[in-house]
Amino acid sequence: MAKELEEYLRRYIATHGALDVGQFMSIALAHPEHGYYMTRDPFGAGGDFTTAPEISQMFGEMIGAWVIDIWAQMGKPERLTLVECGPGRGTLMNDILRVYKDVPLDVHLIEISPALKFIQQKTLKAHWHDNIETVPTDAPVIVIGNEFLDALPFRQFVKTKDGWAERVITEDLSFGLRPIAFVKDAPEGSIFEIAPHRIEFIKTVEDLMKRCGMGAALFIDYGHAQSGLGDTFQALHKHNTVDVLSHIGEADLTSHVDFSVFGHPVTTQGEFLRSLGIEARAQMLLKNANERQSADIASALHRLTSSDEMGTLFKVMGFAHGKNIHPAGF
Ligand code: SAH
Repeated sequence: MAKELEEYLRRYIATHGALDVGQFMSIALAHPEHGYYMTRDPFGAGGDFTTAPEISQMFGEMIGAWVIDIWAQMGKPERLTLVECGPGRGTLMNDILRVYKDVPLDVHLIEISPALKFIQQKTLKAHWHDNIETVPTDAPVIVIGNEFLDALPFRQFVKTKDGWAERVITEDLSFGLRPIAFVKDAPEGSIFEIAPHRIEFIKTVEDLMKRCGMGAALFIDYGHAQSGLGDTFQALHKHNTVDVLSHIGEADLTSHVDFSVFGHPVTTQGEFLRSLGIEARAQMLLKNANERQSADIASALHRLTSSDEMGTLFKVMGFAHGKNIHPAGF
């Protein structure tokens, strides 16, 4: 039960004042004892949501191909630091490593959840970090993250009849408004979101690549390539969308990632996976598949790439630091 978390939040807001959406999200997801990510394995049929690596091994194999292409472009360095942010169950990393056993990858995982770190430790040999600042800089680096940015805190602003106001969470755990000066033409009722933490985080990745001398990064998430108005604050509980304030600590909280703010190339997940050859990979897997496996492969391919599933909503952003390194797929 998340009753303890609700009590904690009420007391916290009573002493510190209303929380912005980002502060609320940090506590609901990452409170050391009762936070959503601290206490559970949220993935799969028994959990709250499913991610691309959990749908099919083909996803990880394509990202693996992307990583190896960057490694080759870097001149096949003797050592390479591979960082994954928010590895979940470790499925994506396992799929990458299974295909490329002989590449000298030194794996570093950024994970705040003790429960998920425990699951990752069962299948992966790696170094774990609470944040990306402590990753070593003595070798070229590649940083990846699937559905990581959406979990970082963001803030919302609402256009009221008196002007823009920030959306906050008040002591009775409902939404309130804090007036702010904010100029942008919009109809009353409009909501605007910003995510300074995400911008700071990507800056940290750029900085890490510079300190490593060479590097590349790939982030995949749901979101948009252009900023716009709209409420994308979302809670998922047992694969259903629920009211964001109704299952505090028991539901995953995210928002769509506004990729336009980072200034790096962005494409859709469908385009990206197709350009890396997912269709050919599916054909190969189909050769040795029985009837049931064939149906699974076809349905996974459709789910990952088609526009009515993840293919268009999910975006991929890639960038690099170093001479002549061009991330594949953009
Ligand atoms: N990449 C995985 C999991 C996505 S869910 C997949 O695609 O299946 C988000 C992951 O990020 C979880 O592992 C969660 O514990 C982790 N996470 C969330 N916020 C974090 C933060 N601030 N720092 C480090 N890890 C975080």
